[in-house]
Order: sequence, then structure tokens, then C-alpha cells
Amino acid sequence: MRKRSQDCRHFASDNYAGICPEALASLLEANHGHEVSYGDDCWTDKASNLLRSVFETDCEVFFVFNGTSANSLSLASLCQSYHSILCHEMAHVEGSECGAPEFFANGTKVLLLPGANGKIDPKSIETAVNKRTDIHYPKPRALSLTQATEVGTVYSLDELKELADVARHFQLRVQMDGARFANAVVSLGVTPKELSWEVGVDVLCFGGTKNGLAVGEAVVFFNRELAREFDYRCKQGGQLASKMRFLSAPWVGMLQDGAWLRHAKHSNAMAKRLEAAIRPLPRVQVSYPVDGNAVFAKIPEPVVDQMHERGWKFYTHVGGWEDSRLMCSWDTTPEDVDSFAADLRELVVG
Ligand SMILES: *Cc1c(COP(=O)(O)O)cnc(C)c1O
Repeated sequence: MRKRSQDCRHFASDNYAGICPEALASLLEANHGHEVSYGDDCWTDKASNLLRSVFETDCEVFFVFNGTSANSLSLASLCQSYHSILCHEMAHVEGSECGAPEFFANGTKVLLLPGANGKIDPKSIETAVNKRTDIHYPKPRALSLTQATEVGTVYSLDELKELADVARHFQLRVQMDGARFANAVVSLGVTPKELSWEVGVDVLCFGGTKNGLAVGEAVVFFNRELAREFDYRCKQGGQLASKMRFLSAPWVGMLQDGAWLRHAKHSNAMAKRLEAAIRPLPRVQVSYPVDGNAVFAKIPEPVVDQMHERGWKFYTHVGGWEDSRLMCSWDTTPEDVDSFAADLRELVVG
């Protein structure tokens, strides 16, 4: 039996990958001498200003350790405890954060919306808002959108505009879980502002980890009023890094010459290559449009087991769904993809 080469990359998650060279170079550069702590340092200032120029607006920026805290703290800042947050039924906020949004928002209820391909059906917002308007029901206050979605699809600008219009109509604030925002930007070929504040996003959780940072996400408030006292929320939530420069400096390397876009473009291209290689295979069925860096596919259980035996790591039943999830990252090579696809072909044909 052919075994997966030891130095191939896996397809389990984009967070299996290491630190990209640009982020690492900035991290090393920041490791000189003493710097002011808790975010009052020159690296944090520089990274925040770079984010302002990337988004072409004077936004408020906070660096936190991970996506769960970025989502839950930002959502908490949009809601009171008697409010509710609307999100897709497959959302990370609902199923992969151990109740952190409800916890940090002091009991705000998360209400689930349906929709094909991991995207919220705009009509379901109205249904959820109008389901009950009495005082006994948690009042919908925020809409959480995941871009790219949990299943590797990407909302188009028109889809986002429609959702944001409905949200505005019902006075819902809009939060975007952008753990893979970079993949969405390059997938659509739009500017970061077109995909965020121009369509009505109030706060974006801009993912860094899955695109090549060691650790860290940026919480970007376009609606600056909503950022009031967010620094206290971060501190209370254990998200204020004392040596903040090591969270923020890698963002400088990532943003200053567009590495964040290059890496996302590459991981998306690897997913397309993987899709093209496995789509024609018998007994394999690609489940969703491949817009970003993920390929979801139905692969027969025994074949999944044999692929795992050959040393390939990837998840099945992510979030309880039946698909295998194949994630590409900034460092996935064409050879990794081809070698994975060759093994899969051998097993499904043979
Ligand atoms: C990975 C991911 C996050 C962040 O997860 P953490 O493990 O808390 O960093 C948030 N949203 C989505 C859609 C993700 O895929």
C-alpha cells in the first residue's frame, strides 16, 4: 500500500498549517528590546493603521487571540442580555464556540436560520423577527453572517446587500464572522471595503490564524460607536495580550505588501485544483460550490478509513454533517493535492 509522504500537508484544517514567512519575519523583527505593553506599542499602532488603509476608513481595531473570542465579544457589544442573535444553523457561533456568544453576552439567545449552501435565506430573517413580537420573546438585535461560510461558499455582493437591507429594515446590527474573510475577498475579486462596511457590516471579525498567522484575529468596528468600552470587554474576557506587539506585529507583515491576499488566493486555487481532480471520480460527490479554500465531498466510509490509514488527515462529520471536509491552506502545494487525489482515485476505482 502506498503511504502518504511524510512531508505532505494535510487537508484537515487551515489551522494545521504553520506561520507564513511574512508574519514570522515581522514577529522576529518585533522581538527586539523593550516595548510598551497592553497595546500601546508602535507595532499595534502600525497594524491598526494598516487595517484602516486596507478598509479605507477610520475603523476601530482590536487584536484578540482567537475567533471564538472575536465573535462572542463583538456580538456581546451589539446586544443586551434580553436580545437575540440571528445566524445560520451551521454557523460557528452556534455549533463550535461552546456557547461563548451567549455566555459573554450574558444570556443573549442565538436563533438559527435556514438557507441552502451554508448561506442565510433572507426571507428567514423576516420570519424569525416576526415570529413573535411580544415581550416574552428575546428581541432580535443582531445578524451574524459568516463569510466565507462554514461550507466554503461565499456570499456575493448582491446577496450581502439584500441581507443587510433586510437587517437594516428590522433594525438589526450586522456582525460578520470573517475567519476566512480573505478567501472571500479574493474569491469575489472585490475590495475589502466593498465586502464589509459598504454593504452595511457594523463589525467584522477578520481572521488571521487560518490565513497564516500563528495566532490572532482582528475585531474591526466600522460603526465606531459600537466599539465604546470594547477595550474593557476584551480585558475582562481575558483577551488583552500584555505583550500585544507579538499579536499585532505579524499583521504588519501580512498586510503591508498584500501577503494576506496572495495566501488566500493560493489556498483558494488549491481547493479548485482539488475539486477538479476529485469531481470526476466515481462514488465521490462534491457537496457545495467551491468558492473558497474548502472542498466538501461525500466519500464512502470505507474509503475515508483507507485514506486515513494511508496517513491523510481530514475531518468527516464536521458539525455533525455527513461530508468529508478538505481544507487547503496557504502552504498546500499542487503536489499535495495531486498526491491526495491520486490516492483517492486508486481507492474509489480499485
Ligand atoms: C475557525 C473559525 C473560527 C475561529 O475559531 P477559533 O478556534 O476560536 O479561533 C470562527 N469562525 C469560523 C467560521 C471558523 O471556521
